[in-house]
Amino acid sequence: MEFAKASSIFNAMEPIVVSFFEEHILPNYPLKCNCEKCTTDIIVLTLNHLKPKYTSTQAGQAYIKALYMNTQLQSDILQELTRSLQVVESNPQHRPGE
Ligand SMILES: [Zn+2]
Repeated sequence: MEFAKASSIFNAMEPIVVSFFEEHILPNYPLKCNCEKCTTDIIVLTLNHLKPKYTSTQAGQAYIKALYMNTQLQSDILQELTRSLQVVESNPQHRPGE
């Protein structure tokens, strides 16, 4: 198995969803819990609901930038993030205060 080759492939949605979360969700929606577990759950849930867009590290930056500018994709991401946020907040994977 040639793992080094596989590791140059990644889902371009990952950095995009993370930056949308930081730039659009965090400043606008005060989270009930913003621990690492909950924020990671929100991002993972969102990524599972959005179609992955794989790219290689070589082509990555330009591809991500183009996707990032896509207004349809922007609204899909924001919609999924908002939905995931509500799911995680109403059903956190840890007890309060943990
Ligand atoms: Zn939490």
